[in-house]
Amino acid sequence: MFSESLMEVRNLTVDYVGETSIARAVNGISFDIRKGEAFGLAGESGCGKSTVAFALARLTRLPGLVSGGTVRFEGHDVLQFDKARLKAYRWRETSFVFQSAMNALNPVIPVAEQIMDVVETHQPELGKRGARARAVEMFELVGIPPQRLDDFPHQFSGGMRQRICIAIALALNPKLIIMDEPTTALDVVVQRDIIEQIVELKSRLGFSVLFITHDLGLMIEFCDRIGVMYSGELVEVAAASSILTAPQHPYTRALGNSFPPLTGPRQRLEGIAGSPPDLRALPQGCRFSPRCQHAMAVCAEVAPELRYYPQSEGQAACHLLQ
Ligand code: SF4
Repeated sequence: MFSESLMEVRNLTVDYVGETSIARAVNGISFDIRKGEAFGLAGESGCGKSTVAFALARLTRLPGLVSGGTVRFEGHDVLQFDKARLKAYRWRETSFVFQSAMNALNPVIPVAEQIMDVVETHQPELGKRGARARAVEMFELVGIPPQRLDDFPHQFSGGMRQRICIAIALALNPKLIIMDEPTTALDVVVQRDIIEQIVELKSRLGFSVLFITHDLGLMIEFCDRIGVMYSGELVEVAAASSILTAPQHPYTRALGNSFPPLTGPRQRLEGIAGSPPDLRALPQGCRFSPRCQHAMAVCAEVAPELRYYPQSEGQAACHLLQ
């Protein structure tokens, strides 16, 4: 359905450098985000999802360090962009919605000014009037009455503040929006409302989304394809429907069993025994082997590679499939 790549990530590696040790938070991962698709990154806390998002946005700061790989956006190497190219890349081509809207918005500046600021910085030719008109348009787009444009962030509910962040992210008509836990702090009804709105805007405006959340159910509903991360590596990449109905990797299966089903009768939820490994003392071979019910001798010796599995577009990294 979506075939042309918008972003190509190859062997991306990100380290956190300490005084006495280095923790490899992302270990050589590769995936594409296609034009018009919503691609999700799933996995437990600390698996490296947000580290990937920050690297793609060129927001990695010390002690974080992108130590290898390439990120190509429409063929251009994002990791090599100079300051001027980076300014165009951020917001005009790729924008961001992060978890806490209250932190993203300046509490002492009316929201109109905050939207106009983004527009005026990147499209100065529009002038103040044009930027204000764009702010009105954006408020209407995300379903907030434009009469409220001059209110301050604290005068809005949590859900409305997150809609304002989405309005800012859309203000320059970007091709990709990176959303890192965009609805996590909100109650489930507001979460659903916002996700439905993003789906509607995405089909109307045609942008791609990198969607990051620990909520696998929400991700399966929203995304076209999903990459499952474990301990800094991609262990499975497949269509969202297959992740739910035909997971190939034992970790994906275990992750799926730890969430309530979206439809059908209630099921007993199973957690995943144990916890993810310390990135400074990783097990040899497959990183999931100490927690995997199917571990074989080879698993403790050889790290499995992410490979396409037969008769499918999906990829998984597991010796059971190779
Ligand atoms: Fe389990 Fe082995 Fe597959 Fe790792 S490679 S997920 S330990 S079966």
